[in-house]
Amino acid sequence: MILVGLTGGIGSGKSTVSAALAARGAVIVDADQVVRDVQQPGSPVLAKLAERFGDEVIAADGSLDRAALAGIAFADPDALKALNAIVHPAVGAEMNRQVMAELGTEKVVVMDIPLLTENPRKELQGKIVVDVPVEVQVQRLVQFRGFDEADARARIERQSTREQRLEGADFVIDNSGDLDALEPQIDRLWEWLQTLPQLPADFEFAAPTKPT
Ligand code: ADP
Repeated sequence: MILVGLTGGIGSGKSTVSAALAARGAVIVDADQVVRDVQQPGSPVLAKLAERFGDEVIAADGSLDRAALAGIAFADPDALKALNAIVHPAVGAEMNRQVMAELGTEKVVVMDIPLLTENPRKELQGKIVVDVPVEVQVQRLVQFRGFDEADARARIERQSTREQRLEGADFVIDNSGDLDALEPQIDRLWEWLQTLPQLPADFEFAAPTKPT
């Protein structure tokens, strides 16, 4: 197994790059998807969220009301801390489980982690950054993902800066061009990934750090 991380700002093109890597045979461990999975109706995480934040974060169909939860968490730093303390350990454990399922294979495993810069993982053999100017992020979020512009800018503001993400990058994908400009970069990325050494059979993640 070869294990790398993929990150980038919201709307930079992480999912697009992940899909292209998956098409070449990579196994994608998608942090956003895992967050959704661990919060399914009936999950311990959802029960804890309801206990801490009240039934107002549960929608009529029993699923998590993300907008209601975001409204509470982003208005209050203590609430955000509590939210992270409930969700992060479950997400981390599930992501590690998905990675470890590939140990012993020769697969390239890509952890797609939007907030990798904010939450670095030292076991990764490389950090891939999908890079675009902020104006391109805004334009794609508005055009393709239905954001209004102010919301897109606010979401981008809350994340690391472009410079912070690029620091320590091992491979940078410039996704400011069109999709045709992306493909040859993915080919080069895939070639580079094959040059990384296979992790040993006794590879383990360090014990998860305590949530802050
Ligand atoms: P992320 O996963 O980083 O939030 P996405 O991969 O969802 O970003 O990309 C954001 C939007 O922009 C999607 O609708 C995607 O199809 C589109 N997109 C991604 N890369 C390009 C590109 N090079 N040219 C045009 N549209 C793109």
